[in-house]
Amino acid sequence: MTIQWFPGHMAKARRQVTEKLKLVDIVIELVDARIPLSSRNPMIEEIIGEKPRLVLLNKADMADPAKTKQWIHYFEEQGIMALAVNAQAGKGLQAIVSGAKEILKAKFDRMKSRGMRPRAIRAMIVGIPNVGKSTLINRLVKKNIAKTGNTPGVTKAQQWIKVGKELELLDTPGILWPKFEDQEVGYKLALTGAIKDTILNLQDIAVYALRFLEATYPDRLESRYGIKEIPEDVVESFNHIGARRGCLMAGGEINYDKTAEVIVRDIRNVQLGPITFDRVEVKVED
Ligand code: GDP
Repeated sequence: MTIQWFPGHMAKARRQVTEKLKLVDIVIELVDARIPLSSRNPMIEEIIGEKPRLVLLNKADMADPAKTKQWIHYFEEQGIMALAVNAQAGKGLQAIVSGAKEILKAKFDRMKSRGMRPRAIRAMIVGIPNVGKSTLINRLVKKNIAKTGNTPGVTKAQQWIKVGKELELLDTPGILWPKFEDQEVGYKLALTGAIKDTILNLQDIAVYALRFLEATYPDRLESRYGIKEIPEDVVESFNHIGARRGCLMAGGEINYDKTAEVIVRDIRNVQLGPITFDRVEVKVED
């Protein structure tokens, strides 16, 4: 399901997150491990403010493990605890409760010293569409309580979901918009399946992907498509890949749309191996 993010929708999404913030001790911010910056909401700092936060690099199974380590370090350097998880397979989830406890230790110790009764940590999950919020909630509760799919604008009573004895989660995640203003970010969001193909030109996305692969993972380009370089005239690469993969029109000419589709699908299906598109040293401007 594609959400059309108009200014009114953004304001409403923001309002909903801001309202729920009052109810929780900590925000669990989900990002896509393949694009830890590009999959963040551009106003996240401003929206969350001083509220303690735990960042989860989800879909870590699809990301480059060496890069994931660098990204965790990147967040830690900013004083933000980050954990790599795979919500789909339920990997790395135990660390969420212990991480939240560590982040909130001082606050809970203070509450205890004031004689307050111990209680579970209250948390909410936030993130852009398709980052895995519902999958994570379902995994954490081990039941299909949370619905999959995104319905911003639907208000209903808040429900708490117990995750063991020590954590309580709001049943509806906060859905925030991605950074779609930047074209390169748009390509990365498309290649990871965060936004639908129709928003951007599929051939442009594929060209971006080929150039990225040439610069970053040339060996994979070779093993998948039998090419080492992407020439200035990218049509040559399309001709080669299209012919190799049988993307032909009735007359035998290369079907470029089909070729682009094959390339994008290959990347989304991890046929070129786990890939991280955001580079740690290149900070994406808000
Ligand atoms: P939401 O919009 O943030 O609630 O995202 P969903 O939970 O609906 O997940 C979007 C898609 O990503 C679904 O097809 C999930 O199966 C998939 N997904 C979620 N987490 C993971 C993960 O850790 N690894 C992989 N490979 N896929 C995941």
